[in-house]
Amino acid sequence: LKSHKPQELTTRKVLVLINPFSGQKKALNLYNTFCKSIFLEANIQVELRFTKHANHATEIVQTLDIDCYESIGIVSGDGLVNEAITGLLTRSDRDRALRMPIIHIPGGTGNSLAASIAFKCGEPFSARGGFCRELTLMGIKPSYKQLRLHHFESSSDGHKCVFLSVVWGLIADIDIGSERFRWAGMIRLHMEALLRTMQLPTVAKYKGRISYLPIDDESLISKTRFKNNEPRKSFGNGHFGGGDIPDLADMDLNISKPKINTVKDSFKNRELVKIPRLDEPVPDNWITIESEFVMVNVTSLSHIGSDLPYIPSSKLEEEVLYLSLVDWSVVKNRFSIARMLADMDICSHLDYPCFHFIPVKACRIEPAPGAGGHVAVDGEPCTSGSAFQVVASSYCATVAC
Ligand code: ADP
Ligand code: MG
Repeated sequence: LKSHKPQELTTRKVLVLINPFSGQKKALNLYNTFCKSIFLEANIQVELRFTKHANHATEIVQTLDIDCYESIGIVSGDGLVNEAITGLLTRSDRDRALRMPIIHIPGGTGNSLAASIAFKCGEPFSARGGFCRELTLMGIKPSYKQLRLHHFESSSDGHKCVFLSVVWGLIADIDIGSERFRWAGMIRLHMEALLRTMQLPTVAKYKGRISYLPIDDESLISKTRFKNNEPRKSFGNGHFGGGDIPDLADMDLNISKPKINTVKDSFKNRELVKIPRLDEPVPDNWITIESEFVMVNVTSLSHIGSDLPYIPSSKLEEEVLYLSLVDWSVVKNRFSIARMLADMDICSHLDYPCFHFIPVKACRIEPAPGAGGHVAVDGEPCTSGSAFQVVASSYCATVAC
């Protein structure tokens, strides 16, 4: 897989964005300890920039002269990666800009992209420790993979780009509610999970309607079934496994100052299936279910946390979304749910009869009036209670692997 850069440019320079707020607020420390010397020894110049506020990374990337850098390193969690990718996507030269490789250096609380990349490349990583060094080493090699982008639309938050997940209910409540335990690092998610499940069935179950367009490929459906411990690979050397895609390295070279579009316009005519507007009914070939759910997740990567191999077969570039849900009216037992959550780190949640997952092309989620429950897009909060839909697009970003 080629990057955005024409081959003849010889100086190697990487832009590294550091979010001083991410994780336990130690991103700079992580960079200095694990990454700096690797870039130095590889003779790669680094331009360090700190993000100052939400969406700052989007602004930086939207106006970046992408010909000056071979890649963008992000020392933060999935939220800042999303902002950087949104910056590339909304540029008028997006087809080329999305060739700019992103190196996700896991400096946040949720580092699902870094974990999914390492997992898919067979690179061992410490799921509950740090693995900044591993991703930096992957980042300095000219080896890349495509990362599928999806289009999210909500009645109150408008349009967003998604590469990881849109979650409603328990998982979102854990992600966002655990903000109060930020000081605890990743353990904050486990603390919140315990508190939330113990509140069932009084709170933490949500009424709503889910509609989806299933994929019609039987072979894919059978591929998504696993044995318990299959994903816990510990060795491998997948570094050089980039896929083949057409060479676009030298297209659009004359664009010096890209114009900026909205996310909505950037996705226009690039969804893989035509979906109705949110205020229109879903077509007849969609399936609709109504119930009281504990969680409804739409995910597209293997991991939804670096220690949570959620749908391990998911590929980075796949044109598929995985709709997964737990229906309270079927399970009705908070201890089963607590056990299922605790079993997620060894992938055994897939064996629980209450856990359903369906590969889809698109889906719409409509919380019932007053249903509540947090909604998170790539780990960042959205307005709760609003209807939203997600559809796969023909865009891919590029990630170092
Ligand atoms: P984490 O995994 O710890 O949540 P993220 O990378 O997801 O880390 O970032 C969390 C949020 O921090 C993002 O929504 C981003 O907009 C925001 N952010 C970026 N820079 C700053 C800053 N200087 N101060 C506060 N928030 C910031
Ligand atoms: Mg985050």
